[in-house]
Amino acid sequence: MPHVLVAGAGPVGLTTAVLLAEAGMTVEVFEAADTIGRQPKASTFHPPTLDLLHRVGLAEPLIAQGLKAPVHQHRDRERGLVANFDHAHLADDTGFPFRLQAEQHKLCELLLDRLGDRVRFRHRVLGVTQDERGVFACVEGPDGPMVAQGDHLVDAGGASGAVRQALGIGFEGFTYEDRYLVLLTRFPFEDHLPGLENVNYISDPDEYVVLLRAPDAWRVLFPVREEIRDPAVWERMLQSVVPSPTPYEVLHHQLYFVHQRVAERFKQGRVLLIGDAAHVNSPIGGMGMNNGIHDAFALVPALKSGDPAALGSWAEQRRRVALDYVRLITDRNARALGEKDPAQRLESQRELAAVAADPVRARAHLLDSSMLNAVRGQGLLPC
Ligand SMILES: Cc1cc2nc3c(=O)[nH]c(=O)nc-3n(C[C@H](O)[C@H](O)[C@H](O)COP(=O)(O)OP(=O)(O)OC[C@H]3O[C@@H](n4cnc5c(N)ncnc54)[C@H](O)[C@@H]3O)c2cc1C
Repeated sequence: MPHVLVAGAGPVGLTTAVLLAEAGMTVEVFEAADTIGRQPKASTFHPPTLDLLHRVGLAEPLIAQGLKAPVHQHRDRERGLVANFDHAHLADDTGFPFRLQAEQHKLCELLLDRLGDRVRFRHRVLGVTQDERGVFACVEGPDGPMVAQGDHLVDAGGASGAVRQALGIGFEGFTYEDRYLVLLTRFPFEDHLPGLENVNYISDPDEYVVLLRAPDAWRVLFPVREEIRDPAVWERMLQSVVPSPTPYEVLHHQLYFVHQRVAERFKQGRVLLIGDAAHVNSPIGGMGMNNGIHDAFALVPALKSGDPAALGSWAEQRRRVALDYVRLITDRNARALGEKDPAQRLESQRELAAVAADPVRARAHLLDSSMLNAVRGQGLLPC
């Protein structure tokens, strides 16, 4: 059985490591930070991700710590409710016909529990060489530099991509002009916007909003052109969503650059790129981490097979999903939310409402937005 090195203990690296261990392979995870990341990033788990996590007994404990979102909602700042998409239409397609709202670090903690000391924090992978004997990762740890040897290295080190860069693999695509400001607050939006769901996309030509409820707080995402650190400006932005006589309490704020980029190849010899190290996309639609977890579920059987052709197919297929599916849908989502042309905006909102009202078209829409079509095309889950 191969011995596999994993760079990065984010949700994708840790999922990969648990699957490798479950499949009987030995694994070592190197994580540059001294703990699991807790920034407010992914909070949405899609149904097929839960179907896959269920296979290794992780869906249920995650669900126990999250909020179910059976419906996701489209709104317009001026007009109000546009459409509700109900995952009940997917009742025959998945064992989990809802989105799960749970902070990504909760999955990381569950995975970490299974891995114990196979994860080494404060160990940064600096570079990698390889030959017919194996792969050699140069790792900087608290006791100085070391070389770790394995049969493969899985680069799950996120978008910064130290390994990808060391290998000279391009990361093609673009960066949006808009960055995303995420504000966390416990303000009870649900008491002020009748019919609000746990996942809400609120379109507006000037300042759209994504309102996501996670167990610990609401996450309010705004597009911005520059970093905003002034609490008075956050207050103005939040008051524009729901006016409140008392000031909002902002628990946390974070600014993110937003990219659409896919690595030019996901495999170079014994090194496999996975998760954000291989692809980054707009977070509108909640697909990045989910897609990375799907990468992991597809990768481990290919690694276990020991067949280089299986790894080659994995790399090709996962790259096609990132380009043809995730990039396409998330870019469309982001642009639709901020559509400036009033006639076009009205037209697409009418279309969304018509799709949501028709069970056949609603199911077809949800098969895409829930990523079921992405995993079915890959044979990860039965059709
Ligand atoms: C605002 C926002 C909201 C989002 N919402 C969603 C959502 O709802 N659903 C969804 O699916 N996706 C969402 N995403 C995307 C999601 O957060 C990422 O796709 C996900 O974090 C990728 O996981 P990863 O494990 O590949 O990388 P990361 O989470 O970036 O983890 C990489 C890890 O590698 C470590 N590392 C980096 N370099 C090295 C090195 N050289 N050596 C060792 N370790 C290293 C890092 O410290 C980090 O711990 C969102 C993103 C943003 C910004």
